[in-house]
Amino acid sequence: MLRVRGLGKRFGDTVALADVDLDVAEGEVVVVIGPSGSGKSTLVRCIDLLEDIDAGSVELDGELLGFRVDRRGVLRRLPARRTAPQRRRMGMVFQSFNLFAHLTVERNVWEAPVRALGEPLAEARARAHQLLERVGLGHKGDAYPVQLSGGQQQRVAIARALAVRPRLMLFDEPTSALDPELVGEVLAVMESLAQERTTMVVVTHELQFAREVATRVVFMDAGRVVEQGTPDEVFGNPRTERLQTFLQRFS
Ligand code: ATP
Ligand code: MG
Repeated sequence: MLRVRGLGKRFGDTVALADVDLDVAEGEVVVVIGPSGSGKSTLVRCIDLLEDIDAGSVELDGELLGFRVDRRGVLRRLPARRTAPQRRRMGMVFQSFNLFAHLTVERNVWEAPVRALGEPLAEARARAHQLLERVGLGHKGDAYPVQLSGGQQQRVAIARALAVRPRLMLFDEPTSALDPELVGEVLAVMESLAQERTTMVVVTHELQFAREVATRVVFMDAGRVVEQGTPDEVFGNPRTERLQTFLQRFS
């Protein structure tokens, strides 16, 4: 479903990503781990077209994202109006929940389907309610984000991301900003999505979640994919010293 090839990204002299390949099949849960600064956020931001890539390609369901190939075979960057529909095929959840503070919880969820996809309001509201129930917040639709705990806000952010019926969900450290006692409720929602075979790419330091939920774990270091495999392979039999060192810090 997702195919990343030779992805490269620099910020000035900093090489954030170098020659990254990544494949994600339908229904897979790929967990990306790695030390701070290894390029994990940059990778998901490039997939979500939040960063301009310098090299390589990202394809979703066989469609090149962010570029078109012109008649001479030259790559041309697409304008924002052409990338917006591509971006809506992915749902992104950030560390900071980024809810619209001036909108009710329910409206946070139905805003994009109505404004961007032109869904009828009544339908979008009904679905928003369903999605809120799915994340355990069916009773909070009329509340404003500030009235919710961090864990509740993050669950609303997940419902909002799901509202546009994305092909792929991207998570960038969705629990890192939460108080420890609120982490579990967000991971539980993500686990239920995984059980429903939602295709997901998850950047997280929650290695227990990776062990239990990932179909594949990708270890990044210094902008490269260094190792990947099943949780058993990556955690049980790390092959590189870099991964061994990384894992020791967590045990
Ligand atoms: P963390 O675990 O701390 O979130 P990360 O693996 O997500 O780290 P990235 O945020 O992707 O790492 O950063 C990769 C590299 O790119 C780092 O060296 C970082 O300093 C650099 N970088 C990322 N974003 C920018 C930016 N907007 N401007 C300049 N440098 C950046
Ligand atoms: Mg990051």
